[in-house]
Order: sequence, then structure tokens, then C-alpha cells
Amino acid sequence: MYRRTALRALRREIAEVLAPDAWYLKRGLTAPVAKSALEGRHLVAARRIGKEVLLDTSGDGPVLGLHFGMSGKLLVDGQAAIDKLEYVAGTERPAWDRFGLRFADGGDLVMRDSRRLGAVELDPDEGRWGVDASVVRPAELRDLLGTSQAPLKARLMDQTRLAGIGNLLVDEMLWRAGLDPARAAGSLDPAELRRLHRHLHTTLEQLMERGGSHTGDLHHARERGSLCPRDGAPLLRRTVGGRTTYSCPVHQR
Ligand SMILES: [Zn+2]
Repeated sequence: MYRRTALRALRREIAEVLAPDAWYLKRGLTAPVAKSALEGRHLVAARRIGKEVLLDTSGDGPVLGLHFGMSGKLLVDGQAAIDKLEYVAGTERPAWDRFGLRFADGGDLVMRDSRRLGAVELDPDEGRWGVDASVVRPAELRDLLGTSQAPLKARLMDQTRLAGIGNLLVDEMLWRAGLDPARAAGSLDPAELRRLHRHLHTTLEQLMERGGSHTGDLHHARERGSLCPRDGAPLLRRTVGGRTTYSCPVHQR
């Protein structure tokens, strides 16, 4: 429900960050930092993991992590999700608004939390959720792909199943593994599964060493009209699993 509510906040320009409660900001985040990191950007995707909503931001913006405690509510344009676990009754006061984004179109996103058990952070450690991608075993990877007809890329980025793989990382590892991001997740044969597992680990390891997900070999080719760094074929630019995707039509099958 949180995610469904958050979807209404996507693609709207953030005009102002409202962070009246400094205690609600975690891991060193301050109101000025939140403002400079978020104002002028858009939210581009909403993911939910348990009581956490992760909002990806436009450009090279940070991931905005909203953690909802027992009493936390998410409102977009004044409307809340209908949450079955919600038991806060009676009147609500704006004093309980802990964090908000005001959009350029006049609407807003607000976290309302009477008991102050929630939190807001930037770039949360996504390894907290799902199976940590850096330690996933071959059998676990096979099970989470299962017989799914969803695109391979979408399944690998599903943070409730496999945590820690973002858009750049998944394109890089599938490019290295020679697998088409749009293929059905459940269509890999045992040899392809082993290859994917191997490249998943080496890609994560190498890119962490190099300094992040933007340090991949495919990364500098992420622009229109560019060529595959491996075989020189014109790269394909598509939307797969809702995200901009670069792949090679020649060596990724
Ligand atoms: Zn290629």
C-alpha cells in the first residue's frame, strides 16, 4: 500500500524538502543535505521492502529511504494508503508530519507518524533486505528466478527477493554474462544459470573495488548510438522492467 501511494508521487518535480524533525533524519542526514540532494529532482521509481519504501531519484540523485514504524503513514496529496495494520485512531495533527516533499505542481508527499518510530535516510544500505546478492548461492538464484515469465532483469532487481542489485549493476552483469535482459527469468538452462551466478559475483566484487556501480565496462557506453565495447555492435536501448536498459543484440541472448 505504501508503494502504491508512493507511485502517485513519481515524475513530479520536488520544489521543497520539509524536514521539521531533525531526529527523524538518520545516518547523519540533515535538512540542508536533504534539500540540496533532492530539490529540483523527480522521484522516478518506488520500491517497497517490508516497512521500507525506497524512492529512486532522477539524474545521479540518491535513493530516498522512508522507513515506516508501527504508526507511520504515507500521504500523497493528503491521501493515505489504506493499511490494514493501521491502528492509529482519532484525530491527526500536522505536528505529526515528520518529513515531506512539496512538489512544483502544488501537491505533496508527507510522512505522518504520531509515535515517531519511522525514519528517513539517503542511500540506505539495501543489503539489509532480501537475499544479499553478494552472497547468493547458485541454488538460491535458481529458486528466485523459478519459472517466472517476468523479464530476467526485473526479477534480478526485485529487492524483496534479491537485495542490492540496481539498474546499472544488472545491465553490466547481464552484458558480461551474455544474457538478454528481456528474456523470461525462468528460461535459463543450467549452464546459463551458472554463468549468471559467476558474473553476478565478479561484477559486484569488481565494481565495489573500483568504487561503485557506475564503474562498469558497459557504463561509458550508456548513451544513444554507442557500440558494444566487446564486439562493436550498435547497442540496444530499451525499457525493460520499467528501467532504461542497454544491451548488445549480438552477444546477449
Ligand atoms: Zn556485444
